[in-house]
Amino acid sequence: MGNEQLEELRKELDEVNLQLVKLINERAKLAKEIGRVKSAQGLNRFDPVRERKMLDMISENNQGPFETSTLQHIFKQIFKASLELQEDDHRKALLVSRKKQADDTVVEINGERVGDGQQRLIAGPCSVESYEQVDAVAAALKNQGVKFLRGGAFKPRTSPYDFQGLGEEGLKILRDVADKHGLAVISEIVNPGDIPMAVNYVDVIQIGARNMQNFELLKAAGSVDTPVLLKRGLSATIEEFMNAAEYILSKGNKNVMLCERGIRTYEKATRNTLDISAVPILKQETHLPVFVDVTHSTGRRDLLLPTAKAALAIGADGVMAEVHPDPAVALSDSAQQMDIDEFNDFMAKLEESGLYKSQKKVVKG
Ligand code: PEP
Ligand code: MN
Repeated sequence: MGNEQLEELRKELDEVNLQLVKLINERAKLAKEIGRVKSAQGLNRFDPVRERKMLDMISENNQGPFETSTLQHIFKQIFKASLELQEDDHRKALLVSRKKQADDTVVEINGERVGDGQQRLIAGPCSVESYEQVDAVAAALKNQGVKFLRGGAFKPRTSPYDFQGLGEEGLKILRDVADKHGLAVISEIVNPGDIPMAVNYVDVIQIGARNMQNFELLKAAGSVDTPVLLKRGLSATIEEFMNAAEYILSKGNKNVMLCERGIRTYEKATRNTLDISAVPILKQETHLPVFVDVTHSTGRRDLLLPTAKAALAIGADGVMAEVHPDPAVALSDSAQQMDIDEFNDFMAKLEESGLYKSQKKVVKG
């Protein structure tokens, strides 16, 4: 007898559960619809005044046995889930997302097609110091079949008393040297107002880690069609990184490449912590090429080769590393730049590992 009654009650409970599922999903559909209407009107999805009204309605109509605070707590979870549902839709709609574009973005730079499956190197000094310094590095790059010459002309230094870079003069040096050796120039720009000037010299605008959320700079870089290499912020989540890239794309510039360069953690053995798993995550979630900067992530010369191998093995579209003819006298990052012999050795070992396919021209005998 008791068992039958239990069965009966359970059946009724199941019915109610099913109705709740149906009702909650009906509610979700309405909430999504409201989200769409709000977004069309440019309104914020989260509306605390409206939420307060709904919570008040619960308290006015609650006949128990649940306490009003309990019901309000449950509803708060439903509100939150509905908002997340709306945000998921938003995420799906991001221009950087694979959901928006299934095929990989290929960025054309000086006849090179970055993101086409061939993995590439970006190398060069931390800062442009002189024509001779850049020329020496560029010759080494050319010799190794590396096509992308980097060098900082505007340096975002932690201390205002440190070398700030040569500015436009540095960009001129990069351009002259790159033209001499047939290389492409990548250089960081820090001021949105400098973008129109910079595009006369660079093939790729770099936006540095410290400026990843400099939204005016992102918008300025998005307003030209020069390719952009966007570096991950020092403490940026992958989602924030993707949204920073979205700023550039949303302004019309589709030629965006991402660069994982290590993030701040409590670990002190390296300058930053290379978030290697960010690479496959970014490759899955976005259609943009992804680079790994092994110099600024590790801050250690002895880790450049193993981390570069890891980056190539995990599917990065390329690796960035700093090279200086005489790192001991470099005006910035002297501890981790490779000299030219070390760079040649680095390249040889990458090739030996089978992970890197050289772009060196084969000289036919
Ligand atoms: C750089 O690449 O020169 C640089 C300053 O790197 P980051 O912005 O990643 O620190
Ligand atoms: Mn540097």
